[in-house]
Amino acid sequence: MDELRCEPGRARELEAGCRRVAEEVAAAAAETPPGIRAEGLDVELIPVTKFFPASDVAALYDAGVRAVGENRDQEASAKAARLIASGRTELSWHYIGQLQTNKAKSVVSYASSVHSVDRSSLVAALAKAYRRRLEAWEAGEAAAPPAHASGGLECLIQVDLEEGAAGRGGAAPAEVGRLAEEIEQAEGLRLGGLMAVAPLGAEPGPSFERLWEISQRLRAEHPQARQISAGMSGDWAEAIRWGSTRVRVGSSIMGPRPEATGPA
Ligand SMILES: *Cc1c(COP(=O)(O)O)cnc(C)c1O
Repeated sequence: MDELRCEPGRARELEAGCRRVAEEVAAAAAETPPGIRAEGLDVELIPVTKFFPASDVAALYDAGVRAVGENRDQEASAKAARLIASGRTELSWHYIGQLQTNKAKSVVSYASSVHSVDRSSLVAALAKAYRRRLEAWEAGEAAAPPAHASGGLECLIQVDLEEGAAGRGGAAPAEVGRLAEEIEQAEGLRLGGLMAVAPLGAEPGPSFERLWEISQRLRAEHPQARQISAGMSGDWAEAIRWGSTRVRVGSSIMGPRPEATGPA
């Protein structure tokens, strides 16, 4: 019946990895200095399942996980369809990778949050795609977009903390205010906060501090934009120290990514 059954040893490994990282994250979250993390928010652990099969996502789901991160549209949409077909319908898909505008239509069909919004054209494309999907739903031609249940597609603005260097994506800090306004104005989109990837080869702490400062400025104008998506396998502890509310953890939970497909 359940075609997505994971091999039992692998399922146990994933469950144990998830539990271990969740415990470490909770312990670090308890140590965040007062006044840093947005009040009332915990640190949410989002396992990143890119490059791993749908059966691994199913095993995480069966272990209680209800949110995962993916960074390639084709892969994510195929996995989301398989999870739903297997009856695992309560999963939030967070899109965390660089996104071309022509993929917006697909992304709104399965994602509840896009962490990588970094330019006006993408805001416009997501808003249009979301609106079309709502219309199709109202016409009885498609399922409701998953973000509908939470009041709209959550958008986090990805900030480029190296300012144009190696190109891990993201908007320059000076553009955050304008993009935030555009997301606020776009019907169907919700401004959730910020996301960043720490620059390679540098101490992550100062980068996360900088992101926190940008977040403080953003929240002065948009009090609801409280999320900070920051921290990966190698640096989530520093990110939590600087108020991260969502850590995106891949390899520490899933194991090393298959080499052939290359790094993200
Ligand atoms: C792959 C990826 C992660 C997870 O990386 P790990 O180092 O495996 O934890 C987090 N964020 C983004 C944007 C990614 O692409």
